[in-house]
Amino acid sequence: MSNRSMKPESLMMSYGYKPELSEGAIKCPIFLTSTFVFKSAEEGKAFFELAYGKREKLPGEEMGLIYSRINNPDLEILENRLRLWDQADDCAVFESGMSAISTVLLEFLKPGDLLLFSSPTYGGTDHFINHFLPKIGVHTLGFTSDMSEEELYETIHNSDHAGRLTHVHLETPANPTNALIDIEMVRRVVDRFKTEEKVTIAVDNTYMGPLWQHPLKHGADLVMYSATKYIGGHSDLIAGAVLGNAELMVRVKTLRTFLGNMASPHTGWMLLRSLETLKIRMEAMQANAIQVANFLKDHEKVAQIKYLGLIEEGTRNYQIYKNQCSGPGAMVSFCINGGEKEAFKFLNSLKLVKLAVSLGGTESLAEHPKSMTHAGVDDDHLEHIGVTDALVRLSIGVENYEDLIWDISQALDQVAIPTSELV
Ligand SMILES: *Cc1c(COP(=O)(O)O)cnc(C)c1O
Repeated sequence: MSNRSMKPESLMMSYGYKPELSEGAIKCPIFLTSTFVFKSAEEGKAFFELAYGKREKLPGEEMGLIYSRINNPDLEILENRLRLWDQADDCAVFESGMSAISTVLLEFLKPGDLLLFSSPTYGGTDHFINHFLPKIGVHTLGFTSDMSEEELYETIHNSDHAGRLTHVHLETPANPTNALIDIEMVRRVVDRFKTEEKVTIAVDNTYMGPLWQHPLKHGADLVMYSATKYIGGHSDLIAGAVLGNAELMVRVKTLRTFLGNMASPHTGWMLLRSLETLKIRMEAMQANAIQVANFLKDHEKVAQIKYLGLIEEGTRNYQIYKNQCSGPGAMVSFCINGGEKEAFKFLNSLKLVKLAVSLGGTESLAEHPKSMTHAGVDDDHLEHIGVTDALVRLSIGVENYEDLIWDISQALDQVAIPTSELV
């Protein structure tokens, strides 16, 4: 078996777990323990030397278990399995997607530095960037997906802090509009700004999940997830993850040790279970989403559909999509004919699809970004990034697609055609 390089889905049930260390149990138990017994004082000393980077690993040496804020078997096995999807050197799991994202921002930025970020971005990230980072003296500069390579260069160049550009936060596809950012293009642009260290690019890959987009292959240094979404996949936990090369991940893991925001062993164990079905869940959701999107695109009550599977061929967006993603995913947004009143009527009329925020779970969910997930984004900015009164976001689950289409169809039937169109 070791000679063959197996696909991640074949390894999700066994990789990194040694049954002989757990009474032969086929499944990894939950290691609900805060601390671990050392065989000898010498062993304890050796473990700490490694943990604190006081010496290099000996050949074949594995990091010993010390204390669950530093390491725990459930988290280590989970991290080793998550690495397989993105083919990353290392992974760190966190107690939430926001703690993964904020830890990366805090590690790679210091007062006076400039952060470049794509917009729209998840509401919580938007708040952290626009309302927390300025308090510690970090400068921030947003850009949108419609900017060309030269416009992006000029925007950074003309900002007051171009010489201090150190870190980039990207979210692509973006929540809630599926806007795409060309990661390779951003890499080229930021590399034109010479600073002491290489500019790091971190990509929030939550919206697409770990199957169909691998930012590390397109010039990103770090990839981040809200594991609450597709990775967890059952709407029953909150967690996050960061992946990247060994050198950068030492920095992420060290800050995690001192912030103490790692996931709990119980959450780690739940995520191990979720990973076993990650691929089949996501494939079922995507197949359903394609059906739902095709139904919506020609519906008279739908003004515009934002789904990666329906991007017009020949456009710049289509090129980015083809280069960066290997599937359209399961997030479908659309603008209803009308505004908030019509959107709310639709949401209130759904029977099978539940009205809730979050995404990536087995059940289909619907929400109104402008008044819910993105309520914290500045009003004058919302229109520019396409978050309007008419926008509805759907996270498509694993239900029968004909039932989903029936539900969406009957809810659209409840929506009156706006009076302005009845002339
Ligand atoms: C949900 C979400 C987050 C935040 O994750 P939590 O697990 O809720 O902290 C970050 N980014 C995106 C794109 C998300 O959808």
